[in-house]
Amino acid sequence: MSPLLNKHSVISHEALLAIAHMPTRSLSALVSHEFWGSLIDPDFMRIAVLLAKKSYDEGGCPIGAVIVDKTTRQIVGKGHNTLVQEDHPYNHGETSAIRDAGRIDFSNTTIYTSLSPCDVCATLIYMRGFNRVVVGDVTNASGNEALLRSKGVQVDILEDNLGIDLYARYRAKKPDQDLEDWQGLAAVSKGTTRKINTNLRCESTTKKLTARLSTPILICKTPRIRQPDSKSSSIKGIITKLLNGYLHSRRKYCVI
Ligand SMILES: [Zn+2]
Repeated sequence: MSPLLNKHSVISHEALLAIAHMPTRSLSALVSHEFWGSLIDPDFMRIAVLLAKKSYDEGGCPIGAVIVDKTTRQIVGKGHNTLVQEDHPYNHGETSAIRDAGRIDFSNTTIYTSLSPCDVCATLIYMRGFNRVVVGDVTNASGNEALLRSKGVQVDILEDNLGIDLYARYRAKKPDQDLEDWQGLAAVSKGTTRKINTNLRCESTTKKLTARLSTPILICKTPRIRQPDSKSSSIKGIITKLLNGYLHSRRKYCVI
């Protein structure tokens, strides 16, 4: 019996959804070598996002990841964040996919993650020998791309608008769960303001601005936009405006 998804199959939403939901070990019954070979980076990223959506639908954090063998183009590991589902304080999208793949040589694979890796996942990625990571969202969070590059990992940004919108919606709906996932319940108990360290890898307009800034910019959630109060903060005001237009969150951000 030939696999359902073969060289004649269309790369549809339904096909990618089926791949996302089927256990990795059973994928050979669903997907042919030819179909795997026809998938490209945005398709694998979309599968990671569909895993994020699965987690969201389960009441969890919407972050997913897939690991693809560079030679065969087959998915060898995939998963999503299970903070809520498994009562697991650090099983993120990336750790879940890495655990699913098991004891393999990760240097011949690429990991696709629907959201920029946190400190733990970034460390795991270079400590397990990945040499390429594709990031699907640096709008809602970013900061470890430079670290990964400094460790010799190729970092490619390939944003997926479905994933970006999903994560922004989730963060607006469950800010405490979002904070817990990144910084633990201790931060929630303290009422810590969530801070995102970003180098503002944005498109052409903000590129010009970032070129003028030598250090990463710290963005923090606030209920209102902080008004520029001096000439020196005029650039901050411009960036704040750009961010509030650029980020798909209902929350307001300011540059501090
Ligand atoms: Zn993580």
